Amino acid sequence: MILSIKGAAKNVTGSKHLITTNKGKKILLDCGLYQNSAKDNEELNRHFGFNPADIDAVILSHAHIDHSGNLPLLVKQGFTGKIYATPATRDLCEIMLLDSAHIHESDIVFINKRRLKAGKSPLKPLYTVKDAGKCMKHFYPVPYNNEFIINEEVSFNFTDAGHILGSAVINLSIQEENKTTKLCYTGDIGRPNDLIIKAPEQFPQADYIICESTYGNRLHDDAALAGEKLLQIVRDTCITRKGKLLIPAFSLGRTQEIVYTLDCLKTQGLLPPVKVFVDSPLSMNATEIMRKYSDSFNDTIKHYMEKDDDPFGFNNLVYVQDAEESKALNDYKEPCIIISASGMMEAGRIKHHLHNNIGKENCTLLIVGFVPPNSLGHRLLRGDKQVKIFGEVHDVKINIAAINSYSAHADYNEMIQFLSCQQKQKIKKIFLVHGNEDVMYDFKIKLMEAGFNNIEIPDLDSFYELH
Ligand SMILES: [Zn+2]
Repeated sequence: MILSIKGAAKNVTGSKHLITTNKGKKILLDCGLYQNSAKDNEELNRHFGFNPADIDAVILSHAHIDHSGNLPLLVKQGFTGKIYATPATRDLCEIMLLDSAHIHESDIVFINKRRLKAGKSPLKPLYTVKDAGKCMKHFYPVPYNNEFIINEEVSFNFTDAGHILGSAVINLSIQEENKTTKLCYTGDIGRPNDLIIKAPEQFPQADYIICESTYGNRLHDDAALAGEKLLQIVRDTCITRKGKLLIPAFSLGRTQEIVYTLDCLKTQGLLPPVKVFVDSPLSMNATEIMRKYSDSFNDTIKHYMEKDDDPFGFNNLVYVQDAEESKALNDYKEPCIIISASGMMEAGRIKHHLHNNIGKENCTLLIVGFVPPNSLGHRLLRGDKQVKIFGEVHDVKINIAAINSYSAHADYNEMIQFLSCQQKQKIKKIFLVHGNEDVMYDFKIKLMEAGFNNIEIPDLDSFYELH
């Protein structure tokens, strides 16, 4: 069997790993979109580096766009097989891929304006809403911990990765000439003490592991402190300074964590009586899906739900669907909390709220997630005094705050703890993917200190024969 690394090589986005069996069957693990600001993204997203029509099946680890977001193009370019995913991942992909298609359709209008000015020919969107709809027909739900046989050579089971709702570690068994090779792909690894979902589960012994490494050189703050810190910022902004608190957050995962934290504060009688607006239609739909799969929540939130059956809703909390209602928030004069996407502040309604409030000294922008270098969020966090939003230069008067304890990714200690269910001497190789190159080298050292050996940091398009 051959493993080819077709994405997320020394990079945090674009996850794609291709397995070709001895009999020539091709199984693709994830089909993510490149989302960082690199110039070659467009090219990498449009050209897979293999023929989609040759792929027999896709196994998907989770619904995040950097893992699932190029599936519609895969189908558009000729893939006809099944996409295996957990039931929750399937449901989440339905809203995430449609949203992604909407963004591609509207972004291309701006891109083409620029191209035409530069004398270049216009481009078609990467994929459309119609393409995303067609792609969904290929999904085939497979629950956790069920051995699923794809063909005479390949079977797999999903174990819970604890990263986001529905996220899975993919445990493959590949049968070749009376020999079975066990290959594990971690997808993204969650934290043992996530606020909402269960801890990552132990996974079966593997010969080879393809392992993420996002926070391979970082330790997170204690998640238990987030509530206290958030309450302090709400009091300072909304009560003392009578301003608006803006919280940019990913629609899936982070938004529900913030809302649940506020819900807990409200139940404890600690939350000041200010309105909370969740201004993102995608967040509203994602929250609905979270409610549907409350069985997969951890014991702490399940216990909480015995007293409060909706941990994502309370008096004073409003989900804003309509664009007009969102615009009306500009005229809302009372102190309030606005949670809106996108988390990186590069797109979405949060950009409008920031545009309107960046010059106000009594308001606060609270950053609760990863902001990549060169993003607007990164520039604000490092303290730039002036930033451009929608082409307009603004003086930054708004207060900038951050809480670092919210993370859907394990830190290096938590990843080592996750891998500790393995007998180290039985692992033939660990491939590090989904991380920045310098972080991967740091993580490799941490792993070696913990007794793991044979750690590889693959380049894009590199391939390995696995025995
Ligand atoms: Zn993820």
